[in-house]
Amino acid sequence: MASEPLQVPVLIVGGSIVGLSLSLFLARHGVPVCTVERHHKTALHPRARGFHERTVELFRASGVAAQLQELGSVAASAQRPPLSLVVRDLRSPSEPQSQALAPGGAPVREAFPPSRFVYLGQDRLEPIVLSAARAAGADIRFAHELVDLTVEADGVTAQVLARDTDQRYHVRAQYLVAADGARSSIRTRLGVTQSGRGSMGHSVACLFDADLSEIQNERPFGFAQITHPEAAGVMVQTDVPNRYIYSVGFDPETQSPSDFSEQRFRTLLRLATGMPALQPVHRGTFPWEVAERVADRFSVGRVFFAGDAAHQMPPTGGFGANVGIQDAANLAWKLAFVLRGDASPGLLDSYHSERQPVAAATAAHAAVTALRMVPATRDAARDIVLPDVACMMRAYRYGVAPVVPVQMSDAAVSGEVGSRAPHIWLDAEHTRSTIDLYDRTLVLISPDARWRAAVSTGVTFAHVPESAAAYQLGPEGAALVRPDMFVAERWQAAPGDRAAALAAAVRRLLHPHNG
Ligand SMILES: Cc1cc2nc3c(=O)[nH]c(=O)nc-3n(C[C@H](O)[C@H](O)[C@H](O)COP(=O)(O)OP(=O)(O)OC[C@H]3O[C@@H](n4cnc5c(N)ncnc54)[C@H](O)[C@@H]3O)c2cc1C
Repeated sequence: MASEPLQVPVLIVGGSIVGLSLSLFLARHGVPVCTVERHHKTALHPRARGFHERTVELFRASGVAAQLQELGSVAASAQRPPLSLVVRDLRSPSEPQSQALAPGGAPVREAFPPSRFVYLGQDRLEPIVLSAARAAGADIRFAHELVDLTVEADGVTAQVLARDTDQRYHVRAQYLVAADGARSSIRTRLGVTQSGRGSMGHSVACLFDADLSEIQNERPFGFAQITHPEAAGVMVQTDVPNRYIYSVGFDPETQSPSDFSEQRFRTLLRLATGMPALQPVHRGTFPWEVAERVADRFSVGRVFFAGDAAHQMPPTGGFGANVGIQDAANLAWKLAFVLRGDASPGLLDSYHSERQPVAAATAAHAAVTALRMVPATRDAARDIVLPDVACMMRAYRYGVAPVVPVQMSDAAVSGEVGSRAPHIWLDAEHTRSTIDLYDRTLVLISPDARWRAAVSTGVTFAHVPESAAAYQLGPEGAALVRPDMFVAERWQAAPGDRAAALAAAVRRLLHPHNG
């Protein structure tokens, strides 16, 4: 074992989509970060297949969003959006329960620029985020596994195993982020409990290629719940043409994922598609658990949980990876400000208080939608009124309960404290948005140029006349926005002493426990 530990401000454990996103965000804030991932490379299986507007906009500044929007198709705004079906097999007529798959509430149609929903698999997103994170300076180590951890008051010491050489070394970090997935060994080691419905079933998924264009031309589907008595499962389309994922349930007491061979899946797929001569190209299987579990604490001392380590939810709604990336954006700027000495460590407490309620509400939403697919729970779950999926992803508010009221629409978010700051195009060509101003510093946005004189070091001033309407400000008002694009403070009219009011707001935000 190397004698001198590697010293780094932040160690991230887990180099999947959430660990990689956090690596990118921290590196862009100038924070040296080391990320260890026990696998040799990024994900092979798509799992998450779509990224919501709020998530995509977090990748705008690094250039990743532009790449995603070029690569991914845009299902949400397609002329003919893919259907969600309940069918005996793909050639059978739709069953009436198809209606129940609508996640609740009328879909929100208001535009949410500047970013678009991107229909792209996690397997294709991860390499893009990885290379952007490395370009920004992150040290990302594949085939390196955290095998031991000591947490102290002033930092953590991790023992890491380099799997290819069998060498072990120590990493000493001021903060550790556990992005080590649903079965987080770090969460277990630190004794963090979880709440929620727990396990709702076990599945094994098969990724396969097949030409289903005959079916797709007639009835384009993105999601199909198959009720065939011998092949019940769920089939979803991926963003890669002719590539699908088919998941079937299994009972872990009596079966194992390895019971589902390529041959067995071929038989099941022929029944599920209603195409007895189908020749699917098998690309692999992976087991997964349908579960709703949310950590009761998102941090313990200097250790933070992000992504599935903090919240596991059924894939219904397509939320999991999106919520995790949004965790990363919330945490990155707070760690950066604290490490630079611009904020007190107390700022980090708001990571739990802000993200845990959002994760719990989103996981509960996903769980109810999943229960609507099960005959035994369908009727009761249908009666639960849920906010729109789009609102769950982008209209939530920090510091209020419930974080997303059932009747909320995107339009209701107009610069309120705790909400994502409204977007306004800054140029006629629609290339730059106010969202792009919110990146590495606090920003004061106002229609009134007189606020410029009130701004002190560490705050950037943006004079945007249109902010009066979009942020619901009077002509002399202003809003203070955080680097993760959330409104920290709003003055609808000018305070008596602008500089004093702004300084007090910055102090409350960055030094919350200092009176
Ligand atoms: C079938 C399915 C469909 C889904 N569909 C969607 C969807 O449409 N939209 C959506 O947003 N989400 C979806 N999800 C959820 C999404 O895939 C997860 O939320 C996401 O992968 C979580 O990312 P993560 O980085 O937090 O954790 P993970 O992807 O689980 O990654 C954790 C990483 O940590 C590594 N690790 C663990 N322990 C250690 C250690 N000791 N040392 C080093 N490395 C370690 C692991 O190797 C792993 O790579 C779906 C999931 C499934 C199963």
